Amino acid sequence: MTPAPDSQPVVIVGAGPAGAALAMLLAERGVKVTLVEAARDFQRQFRGEGLMPSGLAALEAMGCGPLLARLPQRSLSAWSFHLHGRKLFRVEEPMEGQRPCTLISQPALLEALLERASRDSGFQWRQGLSVVDVIEAEGRVAGVVLSDGSRLAASLVVASDGRSSLVRQRSGLELERQNSPIDLLWFRLPSHPRFESDNAFTMLLGEDGAACSLFHGAQPGELQLGWVLSPGERFERSPQAWGEVFAAMAPDWLAYHLRQVAPAISAPLKLSVQVGCCRRWHRPGLLLLGDAAHPMSPIRAQGINMALRDAVVAANLLLAPLMAGDTAAVDTSLEQIQAERLPEIQRAQTLQQQEARQAQLLRRSPLLRRALVQLAPWLGERIGHSWRQRQIPLRQGLATVEITV
Ligand SMILES: Cc1cc2nc3c(=O)[nH]c(=O)nc-3n(C[C@H](O)[C@H](O)[C@H](O)COP(=O)(O)OP(=O)(O)OC[C@H]3O[C@@H](n4cnc5c(N)ncnc54)[C@H](O)[C@@H]3O)c2cc1C
Repeated sequence: MTPAPDSQPVVIVGAGPAGAALAMLLAERGVKVTLVEAARDFQRQFRGEGLMPSGLAALEAMGCGPLLARLPQRSLSAWSFHLHGRKLFRVEEPMEGQRPCTLISQPALLEALLERASRDSGFQWRQGLSVVDVIEAEGRVAGVVLSDGSRLAASLVVASDGRSSLVRQRSGLELERQNSPIDLLWFRLPSHPRFESDNAFTMLLGEDGAACSLFHGAQPGELQLGWVLSPGERFERSPQAWGEVFAAMAPDWLAYHLRQVAPAISAPLKLSVQVGCCRRWHRPGLLLLGDAAHPMSPIRAQGINMALRDAVVAANLLLAPLMAGDTAAVDTSLEQIQAERLPEIQRAQTLQQQEARQAQLLRRSPLLRRALVQLAPWLGERIGHSWRQRQIPLRQGLATVEITV
């Protein structure tokens, strides 16, 4: 659809899952959209890959089913927990419904969404430029300033610039943080044939309370490993030393592999996790979306899924007022977007927090860990069953999200 030539565009800041999906949905429906992305290359940054059935369904609702099938991906076969090198329990995928949790290359997904958006004449892609400020006029956000000094006027600015959102900071919308920020180290290492045929998301908890998880990512031949940093922990270690640390927590076959491939373990990438939610996601002329409005914990892969679901709801509610050029109605729809999305976000964050507390309890209590190791042969299955039941609401979504435009 061709947009009106003299209409001002919607400016979307940040081409992560929230921004790229919303840009595509609006551009395809005739809205003039400019998408600004600071990174020159999606490959350079760490981007999570885990998509739950709720996120896969959102992509399908956007008409991305055929596109999804072409992207580099790998599904999980199970979730497997090990304490002190011994198996505690294993839960098979898919837990409910048809779709397993699937690792999808996020750079490839974002490029595919952009490729679809670019087919529309009203779409503009500004890559390698950061938004450095917002422009205000008559009590409304009316555009953004870019890092090259240029200014973009907008009928609406959507800030989907992630958990440290500069637009959120500049516009005075306050983030209420959950008080348990953690840091993670992210490693890449060569795969083991067992993960090729049985890609279990494998969680390891060591005798000293150290914790990490590993799984086969979307790229062929590559395992990803996330290490939870304890407060004040130093992490300057050689790849061999890391291999030894990981191996000490792993079952025998995996420990052997980790020692074998230790020289090829990548240097770690430190990722700071912050979690929270803004009391208000909007001001006249401005909407926060995805992590900018509600930074999600990485626990049980929720953030990409929630970002995609935000984009669907935003497109549903914004399309008509944007097409009509009705600014007052646009501002009213911003309130409706927050009202529709907030309950699911709050519930997902609460469930993630409960998971985090349980993990922390185990990490901090050597006594509890030792008791569980002893009781695993009798209790492992029951613990696994109770864990499985807790995961189900985090997988299918906690609200109905469908495209209505
Ligand atoms: C270690 C870790 C692992 C995770 N793993 C998963 C997972 O497996 N599955 C899952 O669902 N979630 C995962 N998450 C959460 C997930 O990454 C986020 O919730 C999700 O990416 C949010 O999407 P978004 O589009 O809102 O923001 P982002 O994906 O953060 O995208 C924001 C974009 O804005 C750009 N940007 C930032 N500032 C500016 C600026 N000033 N101007 C222009 N552009 C800007 C950035 O370059 C970026 O491209 C993980 C998080 C962490 C920390």
